[in-house]
Amino acid sequence: MFSIDQLVRKNIASLIPYSSAREEYAGDDGIFLDANENPYNSSVNRYPDPLQVTVKNRISRLKNINPERIFLGNGSDEPIDLLIRAFCEPGGIDNILSIKPTYGMYKVCADINNVEFREVLLREGYQIDLKGIEQKTDAQSKLLFLCSPNNPTSNSMHKDDIIYLLETFHGLVVLDEAYIDFSVQPSLLHEVENYPNLVVLQTFSKAWGMAGIRLGIAFASREIVRVLNKIKYPYNINILTQKFILERLEKENEKKLWVEKILEEREKLRLKLKALDIVDNILPSDANFLMVKFDESRKVFNYLTGKKIIIRDRSHVQLCEGYLRITIGTEDENELLVEALREFVSGQKVLQ
Ligand SMILES: *Cc1c(COP(=O)(O)O)cnc(C)c1O
Repeated sequence: MFSIDQLVRKNIASLIPYSSAREEYAGDDGIFLDANENPYNSSVNRYPDPLQVTVKNRISRLKNINPERIFLGNGSDEPIDLLIRAFCEPGGIDNILSIKPTYGMYKVCADINNVEFREVLLREGYQIDLKGIEQKTDAQSKLLFLCSPNNPTSNSMHKDDIIYLLETFHGLVVLDEAYIDFSVQPSLLHEVENYPNLVVLQTFSKAWGMAGIRLGIAFASREIVRVLNKIKYPYNINILTQKFILERLEKENEKKLWVEKILEEREKLRLKLKALDIVDNILPSDANFLMVKFDESRKVFNYLTGKKIIIRDRSHVQLCEGYLRITIGTEDENELLVEALREFVSGQKVLQ
């Protein structure tokens, strides 16, 4: 039987967490002389709710999931780091598995925490190499990071493969769904009700357009959420973020329109790029960006940077050689990008 108590690091299991004033007295009515706050109202003079109850209840309604299964972090980066710190004994004892190429933060957080990080290259079609993962897994493998749709390859992983890993991997499977709103694949969020070893990460940074407020979500079992709550900074989500998100969640329609528009623009941009001589290939995208292979990607990248059009050079990433990553912008921004690339092409022709 899968048990979180056995998986978690011993020092974390026995840890006595910091108890904040706002946890010891959770009511919001009274004369508060317990937290050494400034009594004069500046709208932010009080510490925020450490467990973000109102925000979680709202997200619970939005996602149709029990609020006890929700952990909120300072971006998704916080739960990524906390999961490693909670479950992986550093210094060559435990290890983490991940697909490659993928989002860089998993490895950076593992490196910071001095936990061995084992990468398994994606196979054809940028899908998960199940055998490769099995071969690199041992008794000390505690976490497996998956990302779907994957950054930077922009495709979704096969659902059957993810389910297979949930059923066979003895540690936690962390499924990063940062781009799920742009995907034709449904979220596996509700599988946390079936798999006690699943953590699904989502974020308000992409489809919701709130990268600036730093709010990420981890959906998981109550036991996993309890562990994360135990080790997080007491007041990890500030009062401005908590207020702002409650206002924005009332505008779900706006987010839906943004996503529709971005998907429409993604297809338009794909067709325009495909028509250019210098474009070798465009990967099928289930996200809000396109991976585009150019004959001379570095030249294109530098040319665009010179025109103050900033994209991401992924040309040295293994399996993505020659690719540049282009985020879908507004209609005008995408048009300016295409015009700049057309200019680049005519410049090349003059040189020939
Ligand atoms: C952008 C991105 C995130 C978002 O991180 P935040 O810290 O929530 O802004 C998470 N995962 C992946 C794969 C991403 O590309």
